[in-house]
Amino acid sequence: MSTLKVNRQDIRKIISENFNDTDIRFSNDEILGYLNQMDRYRPMNLDVLDFEDILLEMEGSGFLRPIAQNFNTRYYKIMTDLVTRSCKDCGVVSWFADAEEPKLCPQCRSANLG
Ligand SMILES: [Zn+2]
Repeated sequence: MSTLKVNRQDIRKIISENFNDTDIRFSNDEILGYLNQMDRYRPMNLDVLDFEDILLEMEGSGFLRPIAQNFNTRYYKIMTDLVTRSCKDCGVVSWFADAEEPKLCPQCRSANLG
């Protein structure tokens, strides 16, 4: 498994804080804009391709619903309202779609969620 440049938890946090409504359409470019406002990512000159794998994973698990694509810009909605769960192994609290499967801790990949 390749090392991810972007933390899965940060992607989920951005979506939950800014696009947490099943009627809101948002894009990977907008997520990139929020990442670029964070100190840890600002010097990295990130591209949408740097977190494409994470978004594909979130499509696969049922968090993200892909709506449209125009070249490298992908548009999404969240699949359902989001729920928070805390990881019993590392303590991170994160956001999941209700029916998302599998629900894995974005920090340590544990399935042991409270
Ligand atoms: Zn964890």
